[in-house]
Amino acid sequence: MIDPARMHALSPATIAIVDDVLDYARRRELYEGVPLDKPLTQRELVRLASGTITESGIGARRAAGLFENVLAPACLSTDHPGYLSFIPSAPSKAATAFDVIVSASSVYGGSWQEGAGVVYAENEVLRWLAGEFGLPEGAGGVFVQGGTIGNLSALVAARDAARRRRRAEGRADPTRWVVVCSAEAHSSVGSAASIMDVDAVGVATGRDGRLHGDAVATALDEHGDAVFAVVATGGTTNFGIVDDIASIAEVTSARGVWLHIDGAYGLAAMLVEKVRPVFAGVERADSVIVDPHKWLFAPFDACALIYRDPAGARLAHTQHAEYLDTLTDGADWNPSDLAIQLPRRARGIPLWFSLATHGAAQYRAAIEYGIDLARRIADEIQARPGLSLVRDPQLSVVVFRREGWSAAEYKAWSDRLLDEQIGFVVPSSHAGEPVLRFAIISPLTTYEKLIEILDTLG
Ligand SMILES: *Cc1c(COP(=O)(O)O)cnc(C)c1O
Repeated sequence: MIDPARMHALSPATIAIVDDVLDYARRRELYEGVPLDKPLTQRELVRLASGTITESGIGARRAAGLFENVLAPACLSTDHPGYLSFIPSAPSKAATAFDVIVSASSVYGGSWQEGAGVVYAENEVLRWLAGEFGLPEGAGGVFVQGGTIGNLSALVAARDAARRRRRAEGRADPTRWVVVCSAEAHSSVGSAASIMDVDAVGVATGRDGRLHGDAVATALDEHGDAVFAVVATGGTTNFGIVDDIASIAEVTSARGVWLHIDGAYGLAAMLVEKVRPVFAGVERADSVIVDPHKWLFAPFDACALIYRDPAGARLAHTQHAEYLDTLTDGADWNPSDLAIQLPRRARGIPLWFSLATHGAAQYRAAIEYGIDLARRIADEIQARPGLSLVRDPQLSVVVFRREGWSAAEYKAWSDRLLDEQIGFVVPSSHAGEPVLRFAIISPLTTYEKLIEILDTLG
């Protein structure tokens, strides 16, 4: 029987659905030895899980059962200690548990009027991060979906600021705007440039793999005031290399060019005292990003985007429409106005809860663990015949080769490792050479786990 309110009313049936779902959430949170799992093919999933969308519904029991027994096992558990590819995610139990609350509370995180409480809590986290990065009191921002949107939003704000300045001086736009970055910059910077229809100029790094101020100065000489921003990377995705931000900041400050720090993966390492000096210069940035879903132990998806001058970013990003006037006419802090988005989940709240619960010292220790483990396993790799490091690890990424293996042999080994549920380590490449890469995020990834994987390399 169809009743319009059946899905919403507190009937015994809806209460049973909520109970079942929360029971499953609790079970999954408390799994001992999370399975790594692996994907199924489209054909297998059609066979096992088709026909779920029907006119009358298949019922919660069947749908949830299908999720638990078929769909979830066909997804890698990104929090498995053997998940070492790309940049893993290892959310804390407090963070994943509280993510459920973000949905259960039906809060909206786009405006102060609607979500003052969650916006306030998110801002507490952003302010704390800004302080760790050495940014001034007035710095602020918003949690967006990921580093890709974070970089794009920051660059849009940077170009808008450059454009406004030129207009104020009575000058037209350059024929082509230019963003300067390192040749090692993340693909999302090139993608942002393409979306914005601007040119991305990739400057060669030094022998140390880092972008330096003198190379940036040369690029600025060449492209003049068509350059609206310089992007420095605070921990490259492939190697975890931190650009020479201090020397780059000297150059951008002297020339009045916006400095953006892409720290999606690595900037979290600034929380660790002994690593902080590597990031000198971040305090002079106009904008920075760091992904809590990478090394700040929050669930997907969350990128903290922080501006030195949020008011300027607001000018670039605020959407104006009659139905929004009540929000945009006031002086309230509306997260929607600081990036490319309008509606938004309060995606900073799981991090807020976990950080408030455990305290910053716990975060520092968990991040430092990954850095120390990377160092330790790098030494072991260097010591093993047949294996060699491609580069010394700076943060928690270790890139190495198995001498004499072809790309096909790496691939076959990697598939076998996943099949045997030991680990998820996909081959990568560097300068045309196939290589292996451990990206260590989870504090549950042990030295013994990494040794177990190395032992399979023959
Ligand atoms: C991961 C990463 C990005 C992209 O972030 P997403 O959250 O995956 O969109 C950008 N820059 C760097 C350096 C990264 O490591």
